[in-house]
Amino acid sequence: MGFFADSLNRIQPSATIAVATKARQLQAQGRDIISLSAGEPDFDTPVNIKEAAIRAMREGKTKYTDVDGIPELKAAIAAKFKRENGLAYETSQVSVGTGGKQVLYNALMATLNPGDEVVIPAPCWVSYADIVLLGGGKPVFAPCRIEDGYKLQPATLEKAITPQTKWFIFNAPCNPTGAAYSKGEVKALTDVLMRHSHVWVLTDDMYEHLLYDGHTFWTPVQVEPGLYERTLTMNGLSKAYCMTGWRLGYGAGPAPLIKAMCKLQSQSTSNPSSITQWAAVEALNGPQQFIEQHNKVFAQRRDLVVSMLNQARGLKCPKPEGAFYVYPSCEGLIGKTSAKGVRIANDEDFVTALLDEEGVACVHGAAFAMSPFFRISYATSTDALEEACNRIQRFCGNLR
Ligand code: PLP
Repeated sequence: MGFFADSLNRIQPSATIAVATKARQLQAQGRDIISLSAGEPDFDTPVNIKEAAIRAMREGKTKYTDVDGIPELKAAIAAKFKRENGLAYETSQVSVGTGGKQVLYNALMATLNPGDEVVIPAPCWVSYADIVLLGGGKPVFAPCRIEDGYKLQPATLEKAITPQTKWFIFNAPCNPTGAAYSKGEVKALTDVLMRHSHVWVLTDDMYEHLLYDGHTFWTPVQVEPGLYERTLTMNGLSKAYCMTGWRLGYGAGPAPLIKAMCKLQSQSTSNPSSITQWAAVEALNGPQQFIEQHNKVFAQRRDLVVSMLNQARGLKCPKPEGAFYVYPSCEGLIGKTSAKGVRIANDEDFVTALLDEEGVACVHGAAFAMSPFFRISYATSTDALEEACNRIQRFCGNLR
């Protein structure tokens, strides 16, 4: 009988956090490292949002609040859903947590029983499967092929659903692939879901605003209102509003689910920071133009990275519609040996040797449940990206 909980043995530490930590440690030792591992914009939080936080502190808005959000923020979130997604929610259908991660965590922990299955399109964000496992559920990966632009095909979804399926997790634009879906592509998936009325939908819309080349965002309930009674639409401020460190996420869905999530949060973290909540009111209600400005820069960086990676020997990199990631295949390099004599047997060997030999930090595809690939975050300066891609080209060119 060990001291630690058995449930802890079911999960892994976050691989993206581990790579970022290793890159920082190497940097501290004086190594010249370019980290392309971070899942956060390099832009600073807009000034009006910071000012709102300072104002909140000055006005003494520094006490406990309602567990799952102040009424003003819930109203701002309901208004956002109406304005941007055409979705009507009462404030009793809105939950605010300490990051989108907590909202997902609450929803899964509040609903999973042993044996419940959760269908997750793969590759996928690192935390979904581990949270499901922690909650005693079973992740069921639905593979998304590079040939399909990493988009889930309706037949694959159909095949993954069983009588035990409790949730289907949808994430577009996707971390780690950047893949986004047209209205028709979302509809093809919601048509499948309409045939399986026992399956709930957890849509992670975190990258809603990070879309390029004129692509439009579609969230499942907007495309298929018939899913309203069994969907949690989740979103947050971390990515589009450059507020990763502030820790604020939210979700909207059926009131009984929201109430259950609040019960769990009341016995764990209680309310998200009062100061962050007031900043979030300003973020959602204030000017939004900076998002478009950031997107122009992100799209240019994406084009640079995709073009340079496709010039690297053995790599294949699709051009995604959104988020700030690309997910190249390194299949053409498996079995080769690096300049320093390291044999590349899988994508983890590839990113480890790339970090050791060229000082470029990326995350291996196995962390996102699909190999042999790796993820690059292009949310960093254009100069750093260009230098990193030059190093990747050199590393790949030297493989024998
Ligand atoms: N969902 C996806 C797809 C993400 O990439 C992230 C962050 O990396 C989150 C959720 C969690 O975001 P946060 O907890 O910072 O709001």
